[in-house]
Amino acid sequence: MRVTKIEAVSVSIPLAVPYKLSRVYGTITDATAVVVAVTTDTGLTGYGEADPMPPFTADTVSGTMQALRATLAPALIGADPREHKKNEETMDACRDGCLMAKGALDMALFDLAGKAYGLPVHALLGGRKRDEILLSFPLGSGTAADDAEVIEARRALGFRSFMAKMGRNPIADEIRRVHELTDRYAGVVQIVADANQGWTAEESLAFVGGIEGTLLSLLEQPVKADDFAGLRRIREASPIPISADESAVSAEDALRLACLAAVDVLSIKASKNGGITKSLRIIAIAEAARMQCRMNSMLEFGVTQAALLHLGAVTGQIIPSGHAYMSTLRMSDDFTDFRANLRDGYAHVSNRPGLGVTVDAEKLARYALERLSV
Ligand SMILES: [Mg+2]
Repeated sequence: MRVTKIEAVSVSIPLAVPYKLSRVYGTITDATAVVVAVTTDTGLTGYGEADPMPPFTADTVSGTMQALRATLAPALIGADPREHKKNEETMDACRDGCLMAKGALDMALFDLAGKAYGLPVHALLGGRKRDEILLSFPLGSGTAADDAEVIEARRALGFRSFMAKMGRNPIADEIRRVHELTDRYAGVVQIVADANQGWTAEESLAFVGGIEGTLLSLLEQPVKADDFAGLRRIREASPIPISADESAVSAEDALRLACLAAVDVLSIKASKNGGITKSLRIIAIAEAARMQCRMNSMLEFGVTQAALLHLGAVTGQIIPSGHAYMSTLRMSDDFTDFRANLRDGYAHVSNRPGLGVTVDAEKLARYALERLSV
């Protein structure tokens, strides 16, 4: 089986509700992705997705399209989609970085391999160790009253785990928010916090000093991505586990975080981390270092979410609170049927061949911005 054609299309779809993040990211109204379709001489097509979101990611939509057109897609013409490590080497030899473009191609090649073997991707990754994964739902930056509105609406739909975005309001307000949520929801729902690089180490230390005994069970990325020493200081002072997200992009990042004992948890995103092959390497480092993984997402659509679901199915230790398989629920529309996996507050692992999602070509055409074909 050989790759004969690679097409890519950038798409932009409005969010169902605008998303308030930290001081660094502001408020987001639309999600933009690059969808790749890789076709082979057997007639099979596999799909991948890149989710560039500057400044969260170094990659941009135009840079991803350019990398696909100029080097990465031409380099894979003639490749066997089942040779994942070899294909990863081919792409890495073309250019450094571009994890989003490489990740989209890697997902598409896994989708093809699974379809060719007639097996779900998790079976190609050593077999699943769980059938479903608890969902979390995000709470935008705001007050406990804002949170309660979302929590009540989502609890009615089966959600019992939430991720509160922080990092743009004063620390004292965030501590008060956590205590108010504890008074109302302790023992009822789980809540983790994500500051998305919004705090200094000192602000973070003040925060973790004020939330002991509350329902909060994890704090993600309080400080800037490159502040590994700050993460370690916060971890040493914190009554709850600390997670690295923006700090944990490459396997080298994961290894450094592990060696420094800087965090307890690595946040895994199939798109951020450069696809399935590269995410597996980070997951292996987490496992060797006795760290847990939090299966996490960008603002992304069903192809990336499906890749993450297969990774979550095979990862050794995942945190006991919810994981980010709700991204498509936050969009006004999706070009896949991934939402069918979400039931009763869980993401259910698919046994369909490949990534297990169907891509709707008509919707891709409707939301298309720019196309390329190699
Ligand atoms: Mg995060």
